[in-house]
Amino acid sequence: MRMRTASTLAVLLALGCLRVAAAQPVMARIDQISPQTAQALRTAPGVAWWAEFGDELLLVGDTPRLLSQRALAPMRVLDGVDPARLYLHADGCAHGASTVHRAIGVTLARAGHWELRALRDGETIAADDPGHWQPLPRNQVVIGRYRPDGAAAPADPLVAPLVARIDAGRWYGDVETLAGWDRNSFGSGILAARDWLGERFSSLGLQVGQPSFTLQGRTLYNVTATWTGSAEPDDWIVVGGHYDAIGSGFAPGADDNASGCAGVLELARAVTAFRPRRTIVFVCYSGEEQGLHGSAAHVAALRAGGDLDKVSAMINMDMIGYSRDGQLDVLLETNTQNRAYIERFAAVAATYAPELGTLLSTNPYGSDHIPYLQAGVRALLTIQGDDTNYPHYHASTDTPSNMDAGGWSRPIGGAILRMNAAMLAELSGASDRIFADGAGDGG
Ligand SMILES: [Zn+2]
Repeated sequence: MRMRTASTLAVLLALGCLRVAAAQPVMARIDQISPQTAQALRTAPGVAWWAEFGDELLLVGDTPRLLSQRALAPMRVLDGVDPARLYLHADGCAHGASTVHRAIGVTLARAGHWELRALRDGETIAADDPGHWQPLPRNQVVIGRYRPDGAAAPADPLVAPLVARIDAGRWYGDVETLAGWDRNSFGSGILAARDWLGERFSSLGLQVGQPSFTLQGRTLYNVTATWTGSAEPDDWIVVGGHYDAIGSGFAPGADDNASGCAGVLELARAVTAFRPRRTIVFVCYSGEEQGLHGSAAHVAALRAGGDLDKVSAMINMDMIGYSRDGQLDVLLETNTQNRAYIERFAAVAATYAPELGTLLSTNPYGSDHIPYLQAGVRALLTIQGDDTNYPHYHASTDTPSNMDAGGWSRPIGGAILRMNAAMLAELSGASDRIFADGAGDGG
């Protein structure tokens, strides 16, 4: 009886293997098809399960029947790929202090900082590296491209003047300034960068702080800059981005993350000209690259001060200055509870930064929005779509000129900042104040 069970099992396993080998996944290109056609593909005969990944839709099932839908979208067969060995691999910014990160498998698709990878025979995910990997969820939009139902809403005349204050050239100049310092969390230039940021915020009339926290026995500093709301001071919006960088030797960190930190400064310049109704707390974090320590410290301080419940929204910028090929994509990332929040950003982008493509993800990973999400705050990350393609990532060559090698830094940085400025106007009530003043510049 035991023998017979074992041999039956062996036959079943063999059949299973044969069946898997026959069921090779198919990747359909969906960037040029309608949402209705994409839905028809997901529910087509022969589809066992699917996963959407930016501009591509993975279909698993009866391969010949899947391919019979070729008229609807271009398709390619993923030869030799076992659907049971598909994983999401994340290249987030913060890798943690000690993890030696090994990328295994074959990359089948990329979107935002997620890669779809198939593990080869014999490859296993290292026990010390689980954070970068997730089994591929089935029948889910892992990363979706935002496709509005109709035309974009017209620009709001109360928001447009604020968005028009975004100056991509000025922002790029600040990236160059920040990249002139070695901003390793324990580097030689991090305190100079801290003080320069404080001076810049102070010159805008913001109340500046340098709250400290301890990491590996050393003292690190966030920079906070607060605009107290004119009408609803106990309703807070947090706008953040880390100013530390990482790399062996000098760490200029232009894209990662002088771009986002300078973005925090540029948003402060744009919005504080309009006397927002609600309080805005601008934060530049340190210790991000060692594991989100600055943002975690800020959340802890909010909680300790009894202020956490006042925070109604958070915007994080991490790597907003690079495009590989001039396609201007931003990835908007939050958790599943905040889907409406990121869809609002996408809708606003369609109005105020129509050149920007928007990718949406509800798999948050690896940057300073995470501690806020964990604390129940409505938070999101805005990050360039070509995150995983940046060749100078976490290297001493992450300089402004390398970030801008294709000449795309100002176009993509400016577009992401205009989207964020419009959202910040909406969230902070800056537009309400313009209306109340009846004037555009607020003095
Ligand atoms: Zn970063």
